[in-house]
Amino acid sequence: MVAARESKAGDGTAQQVDVAVVGAGFAGLYLLHRLRKAGFTTIALEEAGDVGGTWYWNRYPGARCDIQTIDYSYTFDPELEAAWTWSEKYATQPEILRYLGFVADRYDLRRDIRFKTRVTEARWDEAAERWQLTTDNGAPVSCRHYIMATGCLSAPKPPEIDGVKDFKGEIYFTGRWPHDGVNLAGKRVAVIGTGSSAIQSIPLIAEQAAHLTVFQRTPNFALPAHNGPAPDDRMSLLQGDRAAYREQARQSMAGVPYPQQTVMSWQLSDAERRERFERAWAAGDLVHILTQLWADQAVDVDGNRIVQDLIREKIRAAVRDPETAAALMPDDHPFGAKRPCLDTNYYATYNRPNVTLVNLRQEPIKAITASGIATNGRSFDLDVIVFATGFDAMTGAIRAVHPITGRGGRSLTDVWAQGPQTYLGLTVEGFPNFFMITGPGSPSVLSNMAVSIEQHVDWVVDRLAALRDAGFTTMEPTETAQAGWARHMADCSMLTLHRLANTWYTGANVPGKVQGLMPYTGGVGPYRSICDEVTSRGMLGFRLT
Ligand code: FAD
Repeated sequence: MVAARESKAGDGTAQQVDVAVVGAGFAGLYLLHRLRKAGFTTIALEEAGDVGGTWYWNRYPGARCDIQTIDYSYTFDPELEAAWTWSEKYATQPEILRYLGFVADRYDLRRDIRFKTRVTEARWDEAAERWQLTTDNGAPVSCRHYIMATGCLSAPKPPEIDGVKDFKGEIYFTGRWPHDGVNLAGKRVAVIGTGSSAIQSIPLIAEQAAHLTVFQRTPNFALPAHNGPAPDDRMSLLQGDRAAYREQARQSMAGVPYPQQTVMSWQLSDAERRERFERAWAAGDLVHILTQLWADQAVDVDGNRIVQDLIREKIRAAVRDPETAAALMPDDHPFGAKRPCLDTNYYATYNRPNVTLVNLRQEPIKAITASGIATNGRSFDLDVIVFATGFDAMTGAIRAVHPITGRGGRSLTDVWAQGPQTYLGLTVEGFPNFFMITGPGSPSVLSNMAVSIEQHVDWVVDRLAALRDAGFTTMEPTETAQAGWARHMADCSMLTLHRLANTWYTGANVPGKVQGLMPYTGGVGPYRSICDEVTSRGMLGFRLT
């Protein structure tokens, strides 16, 4: 392997590598490992102070994965699998961060990562056939291939409320939680937002705070995690035949090894449906309840409404105050069309005397003031405001590198003016040798991302090695292939209920963002087959030079 030629930081000379990776989360780490093994010189540039990505930044109380951790793990090395044991069904953020640190140590990855370094611009140099990256720390980077492993949920959405700067108390963002933690004991705390991070943190914040006020715009479906040790049935499946278990995940729809359901809701009696639902509820497994009740639950409004009604029944039973219970019941989107959340004691927390829910649909926030939050009807004096307001998902971190300039000086911002256009969610026409891991147009956030990340990384690195070995220097999708992918994306999404929900999957949570379903809905296994077919048919849809 050839060592990367490094310039002295600060002298303006670019560091030359074959492949530059942006991000050192789940995706960036695996990329570094695979690229090195394939003989490429490489560097990863990472804004954070260490590895971990999502799990570096999101340190709020209660932060956990919501895919069972035995499934939310790397699978590329059986020895790595044998060397690590998860302590819980859903591991906490500190444990997942330790795991990613363990992976970085095991494969000695940190030596090729430049931390505290943000990539600010990227330009394709047509004459040199190389990308030139500008950073905010150290030398620029010149690379043949530029891979963004910048994450789907890594660009926190700024608050859209007037007066944030006027507030005299403490302000925190769940996606940028302080490393030393926050002492909330005895304080009057507000949480703005009721998405996944809020639903995980609210029960723990309520235990510490003198009073917690939750400001909710849109209620979400939350399902019980029933956390504990990894369940025996799943563990024995995994340990019985690890390779088969992992392969089933790779071929599945969501990246978790469950079979495809074939029974329709209308073929089952009320009692049979309830029995299936209660079993899924007791299992405490997001993917089980999302995919295993009946075959039409995600594609037919009637099949879906039955699930919604059963969950609303659970909310009604868990929350004592009927008005609060009603406000917590989602009624504006099909179950699963917006990412449901996994919780521990979320609904029961509203029975505590020190917790108040403010329904922003009835009582919108007017402003944040020096002393707290003013709604149309009331003012709340506060010591702390926690923003759990989510992310500019899927495209936020990619667009934050500005400009990304491709062939003919075209900027990605302009090319994506009407929403992201990609081929396979991996590449963009006019941007040679540019790749996105779990980019818009791939299954990404609709899947167990550990599985999707490994598939993308393997595909990209294998293609780069094949390209090099065949003597080519560039690879770029054709306009026709990209248009065909957009058509296929649309065809697949029409079979789902996503059109009935305003969500971060569609960009609806970010004012001014172009609306459109960003992840690919055709499933992880079918998507993998398409990528493999592209390869087996001589790089179908790509132009190689
Ligand atoms: P990330 O982990 O987001 O890493 C991207 C990195 O790129 C970041 O460290 C960021 O600092 C860096 N970066 C971005 N832009 C730049 C730039 N311009 N210059 C330098 N560095 C840059 N997925 C699941 O499948 N299951 C789960 O249970 C699950 N739970 C989640 C819980 C939370 C709270 C969140 C926020 C997400 C969760 N996800 C989950 C999604 C999660 O993001 C992915 O599973 C996975 O961690 C993504 O890894 P990644 O490497 O692609 O991106």
